[in-house]
Amino acid sequence: LHDAVSQNQLELYYQVQIDQHLGIRGAEVLLRWHHPERGMVSPLDFIPLAEESGLIIPIGRWVMATACRQLKKWEAINTRESWQLAVNVSARQFQQPSFVDEVRDIVTATAINPCHLKIELTESLVLDDIERTIHTMQQLKQLGIHFSMDDFGTGQSSLSNLKRLPLAQLKIDQSFVRDITTDPDDMAIIKAIISLSQSLRYDIIAEGVETDEQRQFLYEHGCSQYQGYLFSRPLPLEEFEALLTSDTLPLKLFPIAEAETKETC
Ligand code: C2E
Ligand code: CA
Ligand code: CA
Repeated sequence: LHDAVSQNQLELYYQVQIDQHLGIRGAEVLLRWHHPERGMVSPLDFIPLAEESGLIIPIGRWVMATACRQLKKWEAINTRESWQLAVNVSARQFQQPSFVDEVRDIVTATAINPCHLKIELTESLVLDDIERTIHTMQQLKQLGIHFSMDDFGTGQSSLSNLKRLPLAQLKIDQSFVRDITTDPDDMAIIKAIISLSQSLRYDIIAEGVETDEQRQFLYEHGCSQYQGYLFSRPLPLEEFEALLTSDTLPLKLFPIAEAETKETC
């Protein structure tokens, strides 16, 4: 893992994010490690290790810089100029004192519009040191960067903490989406999360959307953005680009409209 960055073993995959009109709003970047002997290693296996060892710092920096360089390329294409790219940031990375400066440097160096960058945080990260987290988030928000609360509903965050966070979006965890059409408890939880996001005026997106029944339920209850295998798996850049232009891939099942709001910031 130590050599993964220098030896070009890391790669970003892109998973499309869709709105209720089935227009593309952007993508989430998901990290992959091509291990020379073990093949593809899941981030679920190596991110915790990278956090423990501190290697998440150089790796996270590489992810952020690579994502922003890609964002800059999309900004130059007029059908993609309002896309947002979501980047996962883990606790150790977010909490390092130089994090804000590093992100600012990358934003400046790549010359992206910062409001096209969305940072995904988890509830446990936020709760670790809420005052410091809010301060860091505010500094980044002042740059124009947006925040999404990942895996929402699985953590311990209280509503009083939640309303203090400068969030733009809640992301409904895939564990609730999975049984949405059969489990009354999951239905109730999803309805509650959607109504909470509306009250707090946060955007809402559901992850792990695999079937059209799930998408339909979410749509009918006011969830306006979706991400999941129904639309596409996370793909390497070349395949992601091919998906957007291909006639044969799953996205073709849906009429891809222009996103409702062109500018998100
Ligand atoms: P996450 O941020 O919750 O990402 C969503 C995970 O769900 C991804 O797993 C994605 O491939 C998977 N997924 C997407 N759509 C579906 C679906 O329809 N059904 C199902 N069953 N799964 C779906 P992945 O790529 O293995 O990533 C796992 C976790 O690793 C991520 O969870 C995130 O916490 C972490 N991770 C990935 N990339 C990065 C990164 O660049 N930095 C950091 N700090 N963490 C990352
Ligand atoms: Ca995520
Ligand atoms: Ca998630």
